[in-house]
Amino acid sequence: MYTHVVTCSHPYCSDAAAYKVASRWSDGTFSELKTFGFACPDHLEDVFREAEERILDYTLCPGEVIEEIAIYRFESGKRDRQLQRLWGLEENYRS
Ligand SMILES: [Zn+2]
Repeated sequence: MYTHVVTCSHPYCSDAAAYKVASRWSDGTFSELKTFGFACPDHLEDVFREAEERILDYTLCPGEVIEEIAIYRFESGKRDRQLQRLWGLEENYRS
């Protein structure tokens, strides 16, 4: 059976992702996680910091809201709403 493995977003890394770096986005009626990247344990800090840079460039339309970058424990096959947010890890990296 073919299983899709999500790998780390770091350009030189092909390890399986352990974390999802994403931000909760809403347009007032609909909300979802906007994914900024995936990270293995070694590159979580790099991917998180890059996401923090990129979110500053994100242009919101009127009515759109985007929250701060968050880290979720990535588990393949789980829906976004089932992912566990890792607040403690975020505190380590938040600038
Ligand atoms: Zn990696």
